[in-house]
Amino acid sequence: MPRSQARRRAAFIGLGAVLLALTGVSVLGTVATRHVATTARTASLLAEAFHRAHEAVSAEDIAEQQYRLEPERHARADHADAAVALEVALKDIEARGGTADQTLVAQVRTLQRQYLAAIEDLFLAVDRANPTEIRRIDDNEAGPTSAQISNLLHDAEEAQDATSLDASNRLDKVERWVFVATLSSFAVGLGMIVVFALVASGYQRRLVRQAMQDELTGLPNRSVFIARTADALPGGPSVLMVDLDRFKEVNDTLGHQCGDELLRQVAARCAAALRTTDTVARLAGDEFAILLPATGAQDAARLAGRVQAELHRSFELGTVTVDIEVSIGLASAASGTADELVRCADIAMYTAKETKAGIAAYNPGMHTEDSSRLQLLGDLRRALEAEDQISLHYQPKVSLADGAVCGVEALVRWRHPERGPIAPGDFIPVAETTGLINRLTLYVLRHAVAQSRAWMDAGRELTVAVNLSPRCLLDPGLVDDVTRLLSTHGVPAARLRLEVTESAVMANPAQATATLKQLHDLGVRLSIDDYGTGYSSMAYLKQLPVDELKVDRTFVMNMDTDHDDAVLVRGAVELGHNLGLTVVAEGVERETHVAALRALGCDIAQGYHYAKPMPAADLELWLQARHPAFLF
Ligand code: C2E
Ligand code: CA
Ligand code: CA
Repeated sequence: MPRSQARRRAAFIGLGAVLLALTGVSVLGTVATRHVATTARTASLLAEAFHRAHEAVSAEDIAEQQYRLEPERHARADHADAAVALEVALKDIEARGGTADQTLVAQVRTLQRQYLAAIEDLFLAVDRANPTEIRRIDDNEAGPTSAQISNLLHDAEEAQDATSLDASNRLDKVERWVFVATLSSFAVGLGMIVVFALVASGYQRRLVRQAMQDELTGLPNRSVFIARTADALPGGPSVLMVDLDRFKEVNDTLGHQCGDELLRQVAARCAAALRTTDTVARLAGDEFAILLPATGAQDAARLAGRVQAELHRSFELGTVTVDIEVSIGLASAASGTADELVRCADIAMYTAKETKAGIAAYNPGMHTEDSSRLQLLGDLRRALEAEDQISLHYQPKVSLADGAVCGVEALVRWRHPERGPIAPGDFIPVAETTGLINRLTLYVLRHAVAQSRAWMDAGRELTVAVNLSPRCLLDPGLVDDVTRLLSTHGVPAARLRLEVTESAVMANPAQATATLKQLHDLGVRLSIDDYGTGYSSMAYLKQLPVDELKVDRTFVMNMDTDHDDAVLVRGAVELGHNLGLTVVAEGVERETHVAALRALGCDIAQGYHYAKPMPAADLELWLQARHPAFLF
């Protein structure tokens, strides 16, 4: 950029200098020409006046000779006319000439006066027919004076002729010089204008290019992409939206230069994986779009797979090797505008990202889902910042052996400012599709641990259980967060229990197990939640550092009417005990449940039979009312 700016400035300055020089040359040329032309003109006018004066002197001479031959009146009149002509010429010379000319005129006039006086005498001598006198005057007075005048004028005329000639020569030269200078500066100016036009048009071309192209990758930008998609619509195109899943991480940990390099390589690989008729564009940040003209959904999916495979190969960024994951959304044109097609691909891409599917094809169901989902996520994000919409309710867990309250489960509650209470089942699954679940979990943990501290201070022996979503087990910051919260509030780890489902562990057994081990090592208690709803694997259950098994409420609630459910609950109690775990029954709603569970040897019960989840203040009242003897 700065280089091209400098070039543009140089072109401007150059053009300005040449225009200035051009003007200078023409002004100088005009002044010089005018000066020399004036000199030449004056010289030639003077030469002409001297010539006339010289002629007049000759005419006087002729008239004098004439009168001497035939003394008639007209000869004298001719003589007088010639004298007048001389005076007129002298006046001209006086008016046009310089000081030297004026001195000369004065000299001539003095001589002329002497001459005229002599001529008067001569004419008298002619009238008297006195040849001796005539010859005397002619030889001694009139003749020499006339010759003197004639010589003076003749010399002056010649001098002026020379000056005039010289000046006109100079004029020629100046004219030639001005011509050459004008022509050459005009040529230079023309050249500069050409250069300037080239620079300016190059600049313009770059501006146009910048308006159409992503500078980093050289790919077309969004507006060009939309325009090309619109052009391709009649042929039935497909659009792929490609988003890098861990780009921010690369940027944050390796720096922007590496991030830029990664984007450039991604651009190149996308282009390499496609046909020449396809268009790859960079829409924003780490978002690329691909237009596949005249391509149906099936072929588009195949090409999406090719792009994905290409991008899943490692990237070499300088000395580091980086692996990224991509999410690709696919939409094929059915009807509608280019913008709509791109938006559909975008929605599909978000679905691919959230479901971790890699590639997802758009279906109309995503659309409505999408807007309300996004709305909910936005509201939840704000709710987590507002701190007054989200609270915790606590549900007691009661020992079936002695009726003691051995702990509580913390359950999140959201009171939406417009929609009122929203059930966890309506927003937790949505939060779980994004990283927002991690923030929600941290929020719940923070409040639960703070409440635990309050109970400690009040002398209450209560373990508080917090639910962890599958994603939380993959959150590398979870263990640190828990450690920090416990130490901040001075709560022993054993007072915190974390509930996870089997399916959460099965989603990524290695990482989930590692996280649970770390939590266990801290001293945190762990439970398997909703037991019976997923596929159970004894092998994993055995390996996990858990000490409690919670049988899902759907089985407990029906165990007194449904034989299969009763069998499952019995099996769960036996399995749990075989593994050395405490068994908890959820959804205990009736006295008959309590009796049946006690008969099976179940350890702990939780359910509406005892209490619904409630705020900490209500729980306190409930505990006080129950004490000292609440028997089943
Ligand atoms: P869950 O972990 O199985 O929690 C127990 C659910 O059973 C709670 O529903 C509770 O109110 C309900 N329940 C308790 N006793 C009875 C009963 O006797 N009968 C019936 N029908 N239901 C009973 P809730 O509070 O609506 O929570 C629903 C689910 O939402 C929870 O199931 C849990 O998976 C999730 N959840 C709630 N709070 C959190 C949280 O803070 N973090 C996470 N990750 N999930 C949470
Ligand atoms: Ca639970
Ligand atoms: Ca449960």
